[in-house]
Amino acid sequence: MTDTVLFLGAGATKAAQGLLTDEILPALLLAKTSLQAQDPNGRVDALIEFLEQEFHVNASTRKEDYPGLPLLMSLIDTALDRREAFHDRWDSNAMAQLREAIEFGIFDVLEDSLRKAPTSNHYTLFRKLFPGQDCQPCVITTNYDLIADSAMMNVSKGTQGGLPNYHCGIANISQIGPEQRFGTLLKLHGSLNWLLCKTCLRLELGQTESIRYLAILQQIVAHDLKSTFQADGAPCAVCQSKLRPLLVAPSHLKDYRNPHLAQVWYEAQRVMRQAKRVIFIGYSMPDDDVEVVYLVKRGLAHIKDPKQITVVEYCRENPSIAARDHPVGRRYQSLFGGIDWRADGLDQWLNTVP
Ligand SMILES: [Zn+2]
Repeated sequence: MTDTVLFLGAGATKAAQGLLTDEILPALLLAKTSLQAQDPNGRVDALIEFLEQEFHVNASTRKEDYPGLPLLMSLIDTALDRREAFHDRWDSNAMAQLREAIEFGIFDVLEDSLRKAPTSNHYTLFRKLFPGQDCQPCVITTNYDLIADSAMMNVSKGTQGGLPNYHCGIANISQIGPEQRFGTLLKLHGSLNWLLCKTCLRLELGQTESIRYLAILQQIVAHDLKSTFQADGAPCAVCQSKLRPLLVAPSHLKDYRNPHLAQVWYEAQRVMRQAKRVIFIGYSMPDDDVEVVYLVKRGLAHIKDPKQITVVEYCRENPSIAARDHPVGRRYQSLFGGIDWRADGLDQWLNTVP
């Protein structure tokens, strides 16, 4: 059992050269030719048309001129929620198709960036913070990419090898016993490789390119994740409905009522309440992330010494900036007091960890 909990945000993915939220839409338009080829139903074409008509961007537009992905998803979700049309070209049905195209695009560009991302700093992070056989990693993450998964499975090879404990009812890996598990990975926003049947709520782990190397996973996982994003997605083993990825897309109408995610959130609360030390890497604690801020604030209420809360940010302009001079530092200070603050990024901070 470990007393340390590691909390990863988008900045941790960035430190592994993964894509940040505001880079996803531009990457999606750059990859449009390959996306169109995989999407015979024309949803990607409709998304490109929607972005051009309604938001005045195309593949040659500068990154900073794009609408934010959370804003775009929120506008679409609001229209769907209210059953209102955006414009007579974009009725509810078209909006639902757009949402699917964005999910498909997010998956594709993240998967592509993950294939190129070195996970070595996450590997070093887990090895240093959780040394030895009896001290398995305990990680909470807001990221749905597979960087932490890959790194944790890699660390597990030092023992007998194993899958992380995800603490949600993933049906097709339920037969894997504790001896083939290693570490705890709590993915608050779901995961790229989790497939959900929206009819019977069966959850499965799907296979993705980036973690195919791990033999243990190879034996277990049957469905090709990518095919579930297409019209003839893999059928649910129980009710034959189409399996869809379970990821809480960056939108303000986030749906945490899913029973599988409720389990993950419960476990995250539990491990935080038992932690003696918590390290936040690249999580900016934004004010509008109310559910996560609430979870963290309650989960860490027992920690009396704020120095047991380490916050690692990356400030390119001034790596030695004080917490009170940085917006992220100020948000943490207002919640916890005089935290252990670092602004020189994951790799620099790791060098100081024995
Ligand atoms: Zn089903």
